[in-house]
Amino acid sequence: MDLLLNPEDMAFRTEVRGFLSDHVTPGMRRAIDLTTGFLIDPDVLRELHGALHRKGWSVPHWPVEHGGTGWSPVKRYIFDLECGSAGAAAYNASGSHFVGPVIIRYGTPAQQEKYLPRIRSGEDYWAQGYSEPGSGSDLAALKTRAESDGDSYVINGQKIWTSMAHHANRLFALVRTSNLGKRQDGITFLLIDMDTPGVRVRPIVGNGGDHEFNEIFFEDVRVPKANRIGEENKGWEVAKYLLEFERGGRVLAGQVRAQFATLVRLVGARCPGDGAIRARLAEIGTDLDAMEMIDISVLSTLQAGGNPGPISSLLKLRWSEIRQAIAELAVDAAGADALRWRSERPLYETLQLPPEEEEIAAALPRYLNSRAFSIMGGTSEIQTNILAKSLVGL
Ligand SMILES: Cc1cc2nc3c(=O)[nH]c(=O)nc-3n(C[C@H](O)[C@H](O)[C@H](O)COP(=O)(O)OP(=O)(O)OC[C@H]3O[C@@H](n4cnc5c(N)ncnc54)[C@H](O)[C@@H]3O)c2cc1C
Repeated sequence: MDLLLNPEDMAFRTEVRGFLSDHVTPGMRRAIDLTTGFLIDPDVLRELHGALHRKGWSVPHWPVEHGGTGWSPVKRYIFDLECGSAGAAAYNASGSHFVGPVIIRYGTPAQQEKYLPRIRSGEDYWAQGYSEPGSGSDLAALKTRAESDGDSYVINGQKIWTSMAHHANRLFALVRTSNLGKRQDGITFLLIDMDTPGVRVRPIVGNGGDHEFNEIFFEDVRVPKANRIGEENKGWEVAKYLLEFERGGRVLAGQVRAQFATLVRLVGARCPGDGAIRARLAEIGTDLDAMEMIDISVLSTLQAGGNPGPISSLLKLRWSEIRQAIAELAVDAAGADALRWRSERPLYETLQLPPEEEEIAAALPRYLNSRAFSIMGGTSEIQTNILAKSLVGL
């Protein structure tokens, strides 16, 4: 990589590294490394996000007029890579990476003025209300109803698998505003304040022991029509636009490389001479290199103000597989010791072990949670279907 960087890029990389080493404290790093779920608790990342905001770096990928940095794709890549290896995960990807680009593309000036600064600063924390019981892969089957009543909609229904809803003060949601015609033509995209009367959140604890998911129930929840993104019954286009950013709008290579480095250390400590495990390690390393190149190519599209397009499904599919392979190999390297199950969560608040043993204690819950990578954001089968249609023309 150094071979491709010009002196300005290298100076930028030094600046980013310096910033991150000043602001990612050892306690924060430990909490990030020992998070066994797929999202970091916002309390762990809030301070770092604040520092990034003060520096003007909290939403580098947004257009400059909305607070983005205007960096070249190479600089954006360097930034994402360095953040990943320092453990600096996105504070609230649902805000900055999912709904942010949607508000920029489809929001009114008033909506942009209201919501975008609060995403940049971290004042708002967003959750995603797409899935419902009976509506996951077949998202257009959703039933949560929004009835028009003067200047408001009145919402009744239920969402499920809503990640981090217990931390969120805002929700973007798909609701049904019509049952006429094609199912996709009766869906509307709404922004809902979580403290609106009638919104109730119920936790779901995952099979790895972490509380990340929730159910959300809506009982006569009044939402102003001013909170609608785009036209009534035209939310399907908005929803799909958002999904491309969810599946492929950022560089995961840095984050996954950091997890890979931990795995390499674990294998080195536990089973350095095991040829089969070393071969799997080499395979993952090669896949990582290939994916990184595709990540970079997508950055150029985003730089030009575009959306990721169907390649986002390929990124989602392959990154899920690589992350699962890392989690699986960690359990195999830990061997029977991985079965020393600890139910207390989060681990960083309860464990007092040498680092290598901490990593072993985290291996199994991480493996169990990693099964979710090929489900969240649309399952692998759905990504394969999209690729078959859009890239292969089947
Ligand atoms: C970690 C995690 C976080 C999540 N966070 C959120 C969130 O914040 N907000 C939110 O709205 N949702 C969230 N979800 C829900 C997620 O989007 C859905 O679980 C996902 O879309 C699959 O839907 P489903 O669970 O209803 O499974 P189903 O749609 O019932 O699928 C069951 C199985 O059938 C297969 N299948 C279904 N249809 C087809 C088809 N046409 N062709 C081939 N195979 C098919 C699927 O691939 C899957 O294997 C999250 C899920 C996970 C695991």
